[in-house]
Amino acid sequence: MEVVHISAECYPVAKAGGLGDVVGALPKYQNKAGIVAKVVMPMYRTPFLYSSSWVVDYKAKAFMGAWEFEYTIIKEANNKLGFDVYLVDIHGLLDRQKIYGYPDDTERFTAFQIAVVHWMSHWNHRPSVVHCHDYHAGLIPFMMQHCYDYQNLKEVPSVLTIHNAQYQGWMDWNKSTLIPRWDLSKKGLLDWGGSINPLAAAIKCARKVTTVSPSYMLELMHHANGLETLIASEKNKCVGILNGIDHEVWNPSTDNYLTEYFSVKTVTAGKQKNKQNICDQFGLDAAKPLFVFIGRLVGEKAADVLPGALHIAVQTYGAKASYVILGSGEPAVEAGLTNLALANNNCIKVSVGYNESLSHGLYAAADFLLMPSRVEPCGLNQLYAMRYGTVPMVRSTGGLQDTVIDMGDEGGYGIRFTHANETDIVQSIRRAVEVFENKKHLLWMRERMMQINHSWEQTVQSYTRVYDSI
Ligand code: ADP
Repeated sequence: MEVVHISAECYPVAKAGGLGDVVGALPKYQNKAGIVAKVVMPMYRTPFLYSSSWVVDYKAKAFMGAWEFEYTIIKEANNKLGFDVYLVDIHGLLDRQKIYGYPDDTERFTAFQIAVVHWMSHWNHRPSVVHCHDYHAGLIPFMMQHCYDYQNLKEVPSVLTIHNAQYQGWMDWNKSTLIPRWDLSKKGLLDWGGSINPLAAAIKCARKVTTVSPSYMLELMHHANGLETLIASEKNKCVGILNGIDHEVWNPSTDNYLTEYFSVKTVTAGKQKNKQNICDQFGLDAAKPLFVFIGRLVGEKAADVLPGALHIAVQTYGAKASYVILGSGEPAVEAGLTNLALANNNCIKVSVGYNESLSHGLYAAADFLLMPSRVEPCGLNQLYAMRYGTVPMVRSTGGLQDTVIDMGDEGGYGIRFTHANETDIVQSIRRAVEVFENKKHLLWMRERMMQINHSWEQTVQSYTRVYDSI
């Protein structure tokens, strides 16, 4: 079986969040299971591009509207990732520093998708499955079925995985001419609420739709940023499959980003050494419980609630605990957190930006990881935290409720709360500070969660069942 994953991100080539982690791991473990899985993604100017060797696989011209553009497909030469990765180079459009956030993102990702479909239509064989990830690849099932030039791909089955339904890639109808000549009678497949909606189009056109956790699948029928009725009506082809984590990348016994490796047996001493290193770096006291938040500073993650909640926590508990926040996002949230850190310099530190190395150090060093997310399709941070013996403090939503059991419940090892508000977060910090004092219980929870198996091997089987069904 040959599966082509199409995605905007793939770790370590380019990553902005969980999508990158998943697309960097799933194909690797699929190949180990005997599936020929490959990844096609845009060529951005990332460090991985310059530190790897590439060979040109294909070069051609295609049209986006009236604009004829040249694209080049390059392939990583040394199988560095355990699967073939192909980059689509469209000069001037895709080859930029960042993955997202440009005013012409619609044109960038549309041209990317046109190039991918154009290229695949020139292969001398057909892949078994085209697996599209999020809206950046959402027009592909439609284009394979209803664009006149790609009719030789019409019968290729496609799967859509929704990593995050908040972002849908809306395009005004006046951009419909960007899509290569298509069957106008199929207009309804592109439309949702009066605009072209690539995510909705993929939900309609893909043979199967997966979400990254079972709870998120159910949630989407009620909260899907406008797609609720569509998801509900297509529910028979939808299935929730919980993400795995890449144990080769996220392993405290081998993680080169850490000061000190550790395992279940050495967790107490190992975490303390990593904590000392982080505390030295930030000027914090390593004897106090360390809370961290890692992620995008946006409403979805309830990052806007953090300044108020941490302010109350510091007022309530004084400087009994330390907090480190790593992330970037909405300017107002960044400013709120930075000001809070300035006012509480002895116990709150904020690092604005994206820093892979620091994130690994924080998962290892922290005692508690805060995730008050309003929306969390799967959430990988809590899984990494658990692997590194760090107690997850999560709002009960989406994948968080599928993966974290509250310490008050039988066999529980985490802290769960109901609302993304200051009261619930402060109350959870109180519970955390209490359990931090109970070293025996803390050690039991650390050992317990470090041994939970969230490996990709079992997840791969679930995806294989989906492919087999189509
Ligand atoms: P998202 O909704 O952002 O995809 P996930 O929990 O699925 O959330 O995945 C987040 C991934 O991005 C994790 O690997 C996390 O460690 C990483 N991450 C998020 N923000 C940062 C940051 N500022 N620096 C380093 N890594 C980050």
